Amino acid sequence: MSVNVRTFARLADAAGALASERSARFLGGGTLLMRAVNEADPAIETIVRATDPSFSQISASSARIELGGGVTMAAILADRDLAFLHPAARAVGGPAVRTAATVGGNLFAPSPYGDFATVLLALDAIVIVAGGFGQQEVPLEEFLGRRDRTSSLAASIVFKRPAAQALRFLKVTRVHPKGISVLSIAAQLPVAGGRISGARVAYGAMDKTPMRAKAAERALEGRALDAAGVAAAVAVATDGTAPVDDAIASAWWRREILPVHLRRLLLGVGLL
Ligand SMILES: Cc1cc2nc3c(=O)[nH]c(=O)nc-3n(C[C@H](O)[C@H](O)[C@H](O)COP(=O)(O)OP(=O)(O)OC[C@H]3O[C@@H](n4cnc5c(N)ncnc54)[C@H](O)[C@@H]3O)c2cc1C
Repeated sequence: MSVNVRTFARLADAAGALASERSARFLGGGTLLMRAVNEADPAIETIVRATDPSFSQISASSARIELGGGVTMAAILADRDLAFLHPAARAVGGPAVRTAATVGGNLFAPSPYGDFATVLLALDAIVIVAGGFGQQEVPLEEFLGRRDRTSSLAASIVFKRPAAQALRFLKVTRVHPKGISVLSIAAQLPVAGGRISGARVAYGAMDKTPMRAKAAERALEGRALDAAGVAAAVAVATDGTAPVDDAIASAWWRREILPVHLRRLLLGVGLL
């Protein structure tokens, strides 16, 4: 079966083409999509591409950061203004994958993939969704919960620069340095007067998509980042999680080790 490839100069036109055909898929870096095409996935009849230069642009010079959906992990790693994102970008596959893998594509990568989307969730990111009639701003958490996501074009992702040292990320894998996640955890931990205020904690591979750890966030509010202060959050670490059994780990194992790694992350033990 042949596959049509449609290339558009404007993101709005690409978004229109994507939305108009159920069997169309948008091409990011192709690390997952081209594998599906090569395996002759019958659900894919059309590939939509965009050459709009804004799609691969990074705007990181101010407090508001915008990453085009087509920005690659390698481009993030080459940008010193984005050093706080480097641990998460470096966690996506090996060098060849990172050269092609995009920020937009990571929002769609099935669990246990989605390491970069996990850190974006902890940053309270907003997805700018392109449409034939303009753009729409959708909170990432809501975007990840949408069933019809494959017909939406993620044009860019916007978030506020976190305070220095406030963002933490860890990935648990069986194969170092580039294995697939058993789980990943990202946390934005703003501290005011020695107390956490407005924590955001997100997990990868603990549900069908990256998810917020809301019970842990609540338990951290007003606490100090020490062993006593993080104990309540660690006690509710698995609340709301729904991991799956897969070739990487069982759901049971993911739940067993999550509190251990959340505690390590919150106390800053062994982070890169
Ligand atoms: C060997 C290997 C190792 C990997 N390791 C990891 C890993 O460690 N961690 C991890 O998180 N992922 C990993 N991945 C998965 C994948 O490479 C990344 O998740 C990557 O970020 C996906 O982006 P992409 O641009 O390649 O997506 P593509 O393959 O181009 O697309 C994937 C899906 O997203 C859709 N899509 C892509 N961009 C957009 C957009 N802007 N708007 C709307 N839809 C879009 C496509 O239509 C398709 O359905 C790995 C993949 C491989 C092959």
